[in-house]
Amino acid sequence: MKMELRKTFQFEAAHLLPHLPKSHKCRRLHGHSFKVEIVVEGECDPKLGWVMDYADISAAFKPLWAKLDHYYLNEIPGLENPTSEVLALWIWKKLKPKLPLLSEVVVAETCQSRCVYRGE
Ligand SMILES: [Zn+2]
Repeated sequence: MKMELRKTFQFEAAHLLPHLPKSHKCRRLHGHSFKVEIVVEGECDPKLGWVMDYADISAAFKPLWAKLDHYYLNEIPGLENPTSEVLALWIWKKLKPKLPLLSEVVVAETCQSRCVYRGE
């Protein structure tokens, strides 16, 4: 029986989108309370009754969270143009080797706007 687990994390960070025209509001330095949803999908172990330990999802994401929280995203290698799309891919590439069941990364800049990446 396949099931899906979703775990949400939050971090605060500043960014600007350097390729936009100077008149665009996202070209100016600003910050967000980013929300990241990490989704894993896999077989539910019949004896343990779970797909995996939520704590292992947290442990896998923690080093990435530490690189992002209260930083200026543009200064992080690979995030020179830190759109939600670029950030979702950056998280996916770093997390997938540690979390093989990873099936989706959601990055939300605001409660109304989010990007979903499901690999390839
Ligand atoms: Zn922004």
